[in-house]
Amino acid sequence: MTRTRRDPRAERAAIRIASGTARPRYDRTAKGKAAGGRPRRNPRAERAGQRVPGADRPRYDLGQIVRSEGLVVSEARQRPVAEAAPTILVVEDPAFLVAVVPDAAGGRLSAHDRQVLGAARALAGREGGVVVVSLGPCGDCGPAGADRHFVLDEARADPDQRAARVAAALAVISPRHVLFPESLDGGDLARRVAVRMGAPLFDNAEVVAATGLVRPARGRRVEQRAAPGLLASVAPDAVADYAGAPREARPLPVDLAPATLPASAILSAERIPADPATVPLSLAEFVVSAGNGIHDLDTFRQLVAALHATPGASRVLCDAGLMPRQSQVGASGTVLAATCYFALGISGAPQHLQGVAGCEHVVAVNTDLHAAMIERAGLAVVKDAQAVMPALLRLLAQEAQEAGDHS
Ligand SMILES: Cc1cc2nc3c(=O)[nH]c(=O)nc-3n(C[C@H](O)[C@H](O)[C@H](O)COP(=O)(O)OP(=O)(O)OC[C@H]3O[C@@H](n4cnc5c(N)ncnc54)[C@H](O)[C@@H]3O)c2cc1C
Repeated sequence: MTRTRRDPRAERAAIRIASGTARPRYDRTAKGKAAGGRPRRNPRAERAGQRVPGADRPRYDLGQIVRSEGLVVSEARQRPVAEAAPTILVVEDPAFLVAVVPDAAGGRLSAHDRQVLGAARALAGREGGVVVVSLGPCGDCGPAGADRHFVLDEARADPDQRAARVAAALAVISPRHVLFPESLDGGDLARRVAVRMGAPLFDNAEVVAATGLVRPARGRRVEQRAAPGLLASVAPDAVADYAGAPREARPLPVDLAPATLPASAILSAERIPADPATVPLSLAEFVVSAGNGIHDLDTFRQLVAALHATPGASRVLCDAGLMPRQSQVGASGTVLAATCYFALGISGAPQHLQGVAGCEHVVAVNTDLHAAMIERAGLAVVKDAQAVMPALLRLLAQEAQEAGDHS
């Protein structure tokens, strides 16, 4: 609300008495009527103006700002603002394409994949578009910065056949640049695709910009810079994720002829499920941790087993010998790269939080609403963990029984 700006000179001139004497004289009683200033508020009249007519019990619409004269000035201020849907950025006709071939293990972009998409956006700029070429379906490409998405449905086990398929797709899409994550699988795929396409690969880039790519060499004593070429792989944790508005990740209509794939030397491929109880903490996908707020460690262990998670702990429990040292999460324990971290009775000391900085989702149970762990969590339960654990176990047992009944 704006109010009239006071003009003290004009106000003073307005109350000056034309006395004819040399010394100026003023009528102070007329001050309220002088120019400038603002009328006094009348809260009673304003409140009466906000009253909703017809109701037995007085009800007030506080969304209305009513002046003393009963005039409704604004209805907008207190109205709950409907949450605006995030605007999806659309690049209708990109001048060129930058392709990203993510690992996307399990159909989800990894943290590293997102960084590669961030790098691709830096190369694409405003004119270009980013296309994700994934082996099998992959979610959340739009928020990570993809304008287009091309799914290669043949997620073959043979790396040579995968490379042949990716190379065939890239030949049709014909992007200006192609980026891979410099990971175990991504780095291998990038090299195979480079051989197939007969193009050099600028591997392990730590700086990705339209002006050039930079990578370390000779034990980091040398920094190599090159203009962005066709193929490059991006080092982990070197480039920031895309932080802009979500993109549309529109399916790219590409007709890919059935490829003549190279004969595979692999006779069979079988996925071996890892045992979450024994998998190293640094590789675990889902970690459930106990802190000093947990007294019933038997129930905790049952819960970890029922959730098919990897057990973790805060340093206090490891120091006390209640949990093995290798389960310690944190700066002086293991730094996690888990998709989900479930913290039970952990305060969230800075040293502990350093260990979960890379976790995508954090769930915390703590009796203290103001605990740092609750602040860090995306989902927080402010309850006694001793009560939450058996309740969760009951729920899981019930679900397992229902699933058994249906099958
Ligand atoms: C050099 C250094 C390195 C360290 N490195 C690590 C490390 O790597 N990892 C690590 O974890 N720590 C580390 N620490 C220790 C760290 O500072 C904390 O002391 C420790 O993390 C605290 O553990 P905690 O949260 O389990 O216990 P506490 O701080 O005692 O917190 C217990 C929490 O449980 C809650 N609680 C209590 N009862 C219940 C209940 N019934 N239900 C639910 N919640 C409840 C409380 O509200 C509290 O928030 C380090 C410390 C130093 C000095």
